[in-house]
Amino acid sequence: MSKNIAIDGPAGAGKSTIAKRCAKELGYIYVDTGAMYRAMAIHFIDRGTDVTDEDAIKAECADVKIDIQYENGEQQVILNGKNVTGRLRKEEVGKMASKTSAYRCVRTKLVELQKEIAAKENVIMDGRDIGTCVLPNADLKIYLTASAEKRAKRRYDELVAKGETPSLLELKKDIENRDYQDMHRQESPLKQADDAILVDTSDMGIEEVTKRILELFNK
Ligand code: C5P
Repeated sequence: MSKNIAIDGPAGAGKSTIAKRCAKELGYIYVDTGAMYRAMAIHFIDRGTDVTDEDAIKAECADVKIDIQYENGEQQVILNGKNVTGRLRKEEVGKMASKTSAYRCVRTKLVELQKEIAAKENVIMDGRDIGTCVLPNADLKIYLTASAEKRAKRRYDELVAKGETPSLLELKKDIENRDYQDMHRQESPLKQADDAILVDTSDMGIEEVTKRILELFNK
């Protein structure tokens, strides 16, 4: 049977950075489920779908095909045969994903794909509902969080390093809006699973968090 580690938490808590490092140490596959919701969002953006119209979303869900591949250990997301990995991290895509991930038809489709991958491979999977819904029997569940201030500041530093001039206040507002949407939706809202271990990364570095999770797993 494959081994599974679930990492959930709000946007910007460092889930993907930490999960990638742990996956490398353990020789596991890192599965970024946010990227799948983002790929669906790209589909809705490109199709000009009215995201307030559930029937329109349902009709699109019936047609869309998302596949996951790995190139040099990096996850690639294929949307209807086209690699969209380069577009996934755009702000507008994240905002759209947070809206469209609330629809049941979107979640059903992606959760099925996530379960299939985890059944075949040893994985570290990160997202919002991994411990509560996708992998309820995961070998280890982590709920990774940090204050909204710290998460906004990390995002700010990332964008500044890329030569952009973001507003820290706007970034914090966006993060808080996204948290609210993810935590208050009806379908699989973001919450800590009863058996998940809380790790607050507000005052922890990447190495320290990675080490802590590996220690918890090895226990
Ligand atoms: O983690 P990331 O920022 O890439 O996720 C984008 C959006 O996808 C989140 O704001 C959330 O609404 C949604 N998501 C989700 N369930 C997951 C992963 C992501 O609803 N397992």
